[in-house]
Amino acid sequence: MRLLTFAAAISLAVGSIASAQPAPAPDFSADRFKSHVAFLADDLLEGRDTGSRGHEIGAAYVASQFLGLGLKPGGANGSWYQQVPFRASVLDGKPRFTLTGPAGQAVWDNGSEMVTGAGLDAEKEDLSGQVVFAGYGAEAPQYGADDYRGLDVRGKIVAVFAGLPKGLPSEIAAHLGDTKSEVAAKHGALGIITLYTGEFAKARPFAAVAARAGGGRPTLDWVRKDGRAGAGGARFAATASDTAAAALFAGAPRSFADVRAEIDRGVVPKGFALKTNLRLERQSRWTTIQSPEVIGLLPGSDPKLRGEYVILMGHLDHLGMRKNGKPGEDVIYNGALDNAAGVATMLEAARAFATGREKPRRSILFIANTAEEKGLLGASYFASNPTVPVEKIAAAVDLDMPLLLYKFTDVIAFGADHSTVGEAVRRAAGEMGVGLSPDPMPEENIFVRSDHYEFVKEGVPAIMLATGWANGGGEKWKGFLRGAYHHPNDDMAQPIDWDSGARFARLNYLIARQLADAPQRALWYKGDYFGDAFAPGQPRAVRPAGVR
Ligand SMILES: [Zn+2]
Repeated sequence: MRLLTFAAAISLAVGSIASAQPAPAPDFSADRFKSHVAFLADDLLEGRDTGSRGHEIGAAYVASQFLGLGLKPGGANGSWYQQVPFRASVLDGKPRFTLTGPAGQAVWDNGSEMVTGAGLDAEKEDLSGQVVFAGYGAEAPQYGADDYRGLDVRGKIVAVFAGLPKGLPSEIAAHLGDTKSEVAAKHGALGIITLYTGEFAKARPFAAVAARAGGGRPTLDWVRKDGRAGAGGARFAATASDTAAAALFAGAPRSFADVRAEIDRGVVPKGFALKTNLRLERQSRWTTIQSPEVIGLLPGSDPKLRGEYVILMGHLDHLGMRKNGKPGEDVIYNGALDNAAGVATMLEAARAFATGREKPRRSILFIANTAEEKGLLGASYFASNPTVPVEKIAAAVDLDMPLLLYKFTDVIAFGADHSTVGEAVRRAAGEMGVGLSPDPMPEENIFVRSDHYEFVKEGVPAIMLATGWANGGGEKWKGFLRGAYHHPNDDMAQPIDWDSGARFARLNYLIARQLADAPQRALWYKGDYFGDAFAPGQPRAVRPAGVR
C-alpha cells in the first residue's frame, strides 16, 4: 500500500453529506449484519472447513439468501454453485534428500537438515538435479531485481535466500515473495530451496519449521482439466538448514557463509551454479475434495454496460476444528470476523443493490469463495475458470476480515493505488467521512494474503479494504493478530461493534456502486507494475498526482 497523501484531506473536507444525496441511500442494519455472522459463526457449522459439512451448510445459507434477495444463480449450469475439485496431499512416510558433490554424499530424512511438504504433482516422486544459487530468486528488472539473469536453471534446482532486497514498494515485494516458486518454474527449474538469511532465522527458525515436518494439514490445490494440480509452481519446495546450505555450496566458487554475510549486509550476491546435485525421493497420498464457490448475479440495468461485471466477494471457509484438543477445550475455529463478517458485508451490500430503487448499470456478481484459508484457492479457481468472460470482469472488491471491534474512522485500501478503483474508494470513503490511510503494517504482506490478489493476477483491477488504525484501531489490530486471529477465540464472544459492520457494508456498497455505474470501467494506471504484468493489452488511465 503506497501513500494516498490527500485522502485524509478529502474526507475532512467532505464530511457527512448524506442530506446532499440525490436519492435516499439504502439503510444498512446492524441487526441484519449480526444475524448473518451469528449463523455462520455458530458452533453447528464447525468452523466451515473447505469440503466439510459445516461449510456446505454455510454455502446453502448464502445461496438461500441470494434467492431471497431475488438474485439469479451465477454458478455452473444455472445453479448457485461452481464446484471446485481439489487435490489434498499428505506425506506417506518420510521424504529423503540425497546430496552428492565434491565433499561426497549426505543423506537427510525430512525434518533433519531439509524440510519439504507433500507433493501435488505425483504420488511417487524421484526428482534430482544440479543446484544453482539464484540470490533472492526475484525478478523485477524495473526495480533492479534480476536474480535469474545469466543463469541456466532448466531441469535444475534453485537455491534462493528467504525475503527480498530492501526498498521495494511493499505490495510489489509481497507479490515477488509469493511467486518465487512460479518464477523458478517459469525458468524451467524443477525445485526451489529456501536458504536462511540472518533476519529470516529470527522470524522463523529452522527448528520450528522442522518440528512441523510431515505433520499437520494436507497440501491442497485445485485440479486442472489435464488432471494436474498446482498453479504453475516448481515441483517441490524445500527449506534448508544452515548445515545443509553449507553442504549445497561445497566446492563452489564462494562459500555459503560468504554469500550469506554479503546478503546480511544488504548486498544481493549474483547467482552461480553450484557443484552439487540434490535428489528428493518423496511419497504422498492423495484424496479428492469438492467444495463450492457460491455465486449470485444481479443483472445490470444498462443494456450497453450490463455485459460487464463488478465482483463483490468474501471467503466463506475457515479453519474447521482443531485436532487433538484437550477435554473441555474450545476446538472450533468459528471465524466470526475471519470471515463470517466479510460474507455478512457482501450479503448486506447485495440486499442494498437488489432492493434499492436504482439498479446498478453494470451487472454484479456476489461470490462466497471457498478455500481461501488453503491459499486463496477458490478465488484462484474462479479467476481461472470464471462463469463470465474474464475480460468482462470490470473490477473486484474483496471483503476479508473487517476488524469490527471498535468504531473505525479510517480504512486501508489494499491495491487501490494501482488502478482507478482507488478513485472510487476515495469518493465512497469521502461520502461517509471515513479517512483513507497508507498501510501501517507492510510487513504483514496483506496485499497477497486475500482473494483479490487472484483477480489481480488475471488482470482484473481489484482491492480489499481493512478497517484502519485510527480511533484505537491499531491496538485492536495488534491484539487480534496476537490473540484471536486463526484461533478458536475468533467467535461471537468478542465485543463486536455491529454498527461498524453495517457501516463497513455501506462503504463497500458505495464503492461497488461507483464501479458499477461509472461510464468508464475501472482501468489500471499507466506504468503500473501489476497492470503491465497482468493486463498488458488493456487501455490505461493516467495516475493522478499524489498517488504513487
Ligand atoms: Zn484467515
